[in-house]
Amino acid sequence: MGGYVLAFDQGTTSSRAIVFDKDGKIAANAQKAFEQIYPQPGWVEHDPLKIWETVRECAQKAVEGFKPGEILGIGVTNQRETTIIWDKTTGEPIYNAIVWQCRRTADLCEELKKAGLTDRIKQSTGLLIDAYFSATKIRWILDHVPGARAHAEKGELLFGTVETWLIWKLTGAHVTDVSNACRTMIFDIHKLCFDKELCEILKIPQNLLPRVVSNSEVYGTVKDGIPGLEKLAGVPVCGAAGDQQSALFGQACFAPGDAKNTYGTGCFTLMNIGDKPIISRSGLVTSVGWQIGGKTAYVLEGSVFNGGSTIQWLRDELKMISSAPDINPLAAKVPDSGGVVLVPAFTGLGAPYWDMYARGAILGITRGTNKAHIARAVLDCIAFQVTDLMNAMRKDAGRDITRLRVDGGASVSDILMQIQADCLRIEVDRPEIVETTAFGAAALAGLSCGLWKNTDELSRIWRCEKVFTPQRETSECETEYNRWKRAVERASGWIEH
Ligand code: ADP
Repeated sequence: MGGYVLAFDQGTTSSRAIVFDKDGKIAANAQKAFEQIYPQPGWVEHDPLKIWETVRECAQKAVEGFKPGEILGIGVTNQRETTIIWDKTTGEPIYNAIVWQCRRTADLCEELKKAGLTDRIKQSTGLLIDAYFSATKIRWILDHVPGARAHAEKGELLFGTVETWLIWKLTGAHVTDVSNACRTMIFDIHKLCFDKELCEILKIPQNLLPRVVSNSEVYGTVKDGIPGLEKLAGVPVCGAAGDQQSALFGQACFAPGDAKNTYGTGCFTLMNIGDKPIISRSGLVTSVGWQIGGKTAYVLEGSVFNGGSTIQWLRDELKMISSAPDINPLAAKVPDSGGVVLVPAFTGLGAPYWDMYARGAILGITRGTNKAHIARAVLDCIAFQVTDLMNAMRKDAGRDITRLRVDGGASVSDILMQIQADCLRIEVDRPEIVETTAFGAAALAGLSCGLWKNTDELSRIWRCEKVFTPQRETSECETEYNRWKRAVERASGWIEH
């Protein structure tokens, strides 16, 4: 059977539409950026109607060369946690989308912690209390938009994360998939439904909430009469997942012990832990990876605040390189960092340290230290931080990680990938398909509409571009990693408080 699937990748700064063929190859592609709205320091918003417009325009452009009927299904992946509330009847958002990065509800989160809810929330939702997740953003809109709470209680409003909003615009169905639902901080990851008691505690009326669906099933079909999308009318929207879980799926990490890391501005590491949730004791969060045909895969997730951004710092602040790729030939001039360790705690340290008072440090400098050593230390610190996360995962899950699959802007650096393989002592695989996030959504939709039969078929489509295996002596790598741990101790708690 031929045909194509269309994936929407609705990200934080741009929307994309990509058509994939049965071999997983990109047949068409369109992208459009949109405005970031910063009403106050620390606040971030998007216009939900602009989000929809950019998706619609990209879809129109991507399917230009296709005949009606050739696109068999549509998958959606999205920036997670971003919160939208709209009027059920008019379809008008009652406020801008509050973006995942937005810190406006940090104080409310502190109150929840003080009220002793940390454990209650962690046990049910797998999450730490943080402004990042949707629940306190929903609460903020209901508390601050005049009349919102009364309308919500009458059942006149709908809440959704971005996939919910897009699927509603496309089909009229009000649904959320489990991988997005579990990032709201009001979702019970054991029972796979919203946690009624937590909704009450957070004063979130239940009738706002979407119906929870699996990651691969028909949610609805594209409505007639959407301008520019006439060709897609009747096509099933039949796959959805939050961006990180979608990338894990797109990397064919289907077995427990499989992991992926995305090397972007920050780094996002996810490990498949199988069909039972494990609540982390190391500062990681537990999420639903995906649910397909009644089977659920859970993940442990951790993130590094400063990954590729450390390379940008070398470029923009220290001006040691003129472009990000320049770091590679510079770092390659030396066999190692010559004992220099850089701790990029620019904004404190995340998992597994959780130290907001830590600040950056460069240690081990000698009279012989040169730019190349610093460049190498920058690459080292990205790999060390990912290793920290993966070691926490190994410990929490009580199992080895079988392999690491990589994507994101900095994964193109061979030298960084080699450092990573040496440090982790496992194989690091870089795929041919670089659009793993979009491909994950396409794969979920393709399974549902019959383009692909099963995950075995998807595993065969996933092709490795390059494998990095540990090369350096274990003892050498251990010495360097231990030096990193010592450097982190020195940088910890630096800001006086
Ligand atoms: P994001 O999605 O977070 O914006 P990307 O996945 O686009 O990030 O990755 C961008 C990061 O990749 C930048 O921080 C940059 O430093 C890094 N980067 C880009 N090209 C290279 C390269 N050739 N070698 C090393 N790092 C690179």
